[in-house]
Amino acid sequence: MPFELPRLAYAYDALEPVIDAKTMEIHHTKHHQAYITNANNTLAKFPEFAALDVATLLSKLETLPKEIQGPIRNNAGGHYNHSLFWQCLLPVADYKAPSARLAQLIDASFGTFDAFKEQFANAAKTRFGSGWAWLVLTKEGQLKVTSSPNQDTPLNEGKPLLGLDVWEHAYYLNYQNRRPDYVSAFFSIINWAFVESLL
Ligand code: MN
Repeated sequence: MPFELPRLAYAYDALEPVIDAKTMEIHHTKHHQAYITNANNTLAKFPEFAALDVATLLSKLETLPKEIQGPIRNNAGGHYNHSLFWQCLLPVADYKAPSARLAQLIDASFGTFDAFKEQFANAAKTRFGSGWAWLVLTKEGQLKVTSSPNQDTPLNEGKPLLGLDVWEHAYYLNYQNRRPDYVSAFFSIINWAFVESLL
């Protein structure tokens, strides 16, 4: 089996009250696991691609056999996105603002930290239906906010540094239709040290 469910660095209840324990447990053990199971089942029939790491596999999407492009895009994409997402999070009590180095890059790219927050929150709130908001590092070395539908990754826009899952399964138990409240609360559990480690 090429892909396995990664362990989380924190307990399911560690992100409360921003993300509740039940949501975390279902999200990790059911939703993320389902993407992995489906990706592995797809690759079982195409062992020539099973040794590739997930980002490489996704970067080759157009060269894969037609019949598996959709399943790989959705399920390997889901695996990639969630694996990054979990690492972007930490308990509220452990929150630390971006380091001087990262803060400088944020300012250089967006003007101010608040301007970055507004752009990111806006991307998350206006992504229609299911998808993700992203902070990526472009080839030019700038930070950029973007969003993607479904389980599409932002790999073609730059190096993904920070992702926010805005599928309803990520917040509905606690927030119901109030996606904007979930998005606002997310800023208090961002693991900026992890984000910076990807630079
Ligand atoms: Mn999800």
